[in-house]
Amino acid sequence: MSKYYVTTAIDYVNAKPHLGTAYEKIGADCLARYKRLAGFDTYFLMGTDEHSTNVEKEAAQLGEDAQAYCDRMAEEFEAVWAKLHISYDQFIRTTDPSHANAVQDIFQKIYDNGYIYTGLYKGLYCVSCEEFVGEKDLVDGKCPRHQQEPEWIEETNYFFALSKFSDRLRNHIETHPEFIQPDIRRNEILNVIKLGLEDVSISRTGKKWGVPLPMAENQVVYVWFDALINYVSALGYAGGSNEKFLRYWPADCHIIGKDITRFHCLIWPAMLMAADITLPKCVFGHGFVYSRGTKMSKTLGNIVDPNEMASFFGADVLRYILLRGIAFNRDGDFTVEQSITRYNAELANELGNLFSRTLSMVQRYRKGEIPEWTSEAGADYNRLTEGMVDQYQVFMDRLAFDEALDAMWKSIQAANRYVEEKKPWELARADDKAALWNTLRALLEVLRTVSVLCVPFMPVKAAEMRGQLGLPDDISAMKLEEARNPGDTGWKKIGAITPLFPKLESPAEE
Ligand SMILES: [Zn+2]
Repeated sequence: MSKYYVTTAIDYVNAKPHLGTAYEKIGADCLARYKRLAGFDTYFLMGTDEHSTNVEKEAAQLGEDAQAYCDRMAEEFEAVWAKLHISYDQFIRTTDPSHANAVQDIFQKIYDNGYIYTGLYKGLYCVSCEEFVGEKDLVDGKCPRHQQEPEWIEETNYFFALSKFSDRLRNHIETHPEFIQPDIRRNEILNVIKLGLEDVSISRTGKKWGVPLPMAENQVVYVWFDALINYVSALGYAGGSNEKFLRYWPADCHIIGKDITRFHCLIWPAMLMAADITLPKCVFGHGFVYSRGTKMSKTLGNIVDPNEMASFFGADVLRYILLRGIAFNRDGDFTVEQSITRYNAELANELGNLFSRTLSMVQRYRKGEIPEWTSEAGADYNRLTEGMVDQYQVFMDRLAFDEALDAMWKSIQAANRYVEEKKPWELARADDKAALWNTLRALLEVLRTVSVLCVPFMPVKAAEMRGQLGLPDDISAMKLEEARNPGDTGWKKIGAITPLFPKLESPAEE
């Protein structure tokens, strides 16, 4: 069985996840569930990045021990992800002792290979970016991303010789066009290389919160250098057992926000080159979810709470709305009003309606029994679903989730039109049983196929659809092949019918 290893960015725990963070995890989860459905031995990693200066500060402000604070926040993160039906196989925390071992191991290895040296660092540092910032990048003396004044830092640090990897990085990116996606991100990175890479300070003096340097106990490893290593430490690299590392590394896809591509497309691959570790196959930089045109952030205070949205819409519906409404490789806007409109149009009126009208006709005309699979039913089914599964797979493999849904919805809309054309109620009145049974069976098969393809997007709703159709509803046992094999003779009867997507009213203005 082929393997597939997918990761997301690990999040700082000093603020609760916002809708943009949730969007990344939902996209990654959709991909992971799709790969499982397609038969891959899939490993899906998420986690929290806990050695940030802001985490330490936040804990201190609350009068809490930093580790206790992280424990509490990591739990909150995991609760949100559970609520959104995120199906990671492992949740790594950078304060896990096994992670620290891997960080020290890789640090030492790169040092031994001659790519880490000591030097004096002087410069401005934005603690929210956890990155040094140039004077020229500031707006009114503040970091433009965080509207915060950077700190002046002057200390003897360990440096990673990133500049020595310029040629190898450029060569790798140019010969592996799939390595950085989408194209716009690849071009940005190639441009950064062209402008010249500078070595990176990778240690902090006089700090306790972090992984101590293997060669200098009074310094800790720079939080980004520490965090990036989670992708291999999670698999047991430099730990007690590296079985998972041998099985799943290199990562097939690192899913990250477009603002941290430089860390993942330059520093991380250079670190791996320096430590003689294979590079990941792909880094995918997704776009941002805006809230009325502005990026959501704690500092800007325009956060949409994914927890609240999941309570209002239901987790599966929220997943659908985000993945259909915002192309994964671009930015998009989220508003409750637009989401309700989308829900009513696409889920209530199109998919939900197709389900309820088909199932109630099967109930009315056949007491719930599935009509026989015939060549006529097969011909209609083929016409209604032509190209759907192929297109779905092409788009899913490209992380073009919105287009995969578009491909499904073409068939759903065609099936609704088919009901209007065939007018099964007239066939029933005319007692044209053969035509009526064929029509119903074709529609049932469309719904069955759709229920399979829905699994990555709406796992709980997909199971509900299966139950109503009278099909096995254990989604973990489902296979994508089922979507290519209509006409199962073992399918006898539909299940109990309940509305899948009842219409939503707009909430009253407050
Ligand atoms: Zn900043």
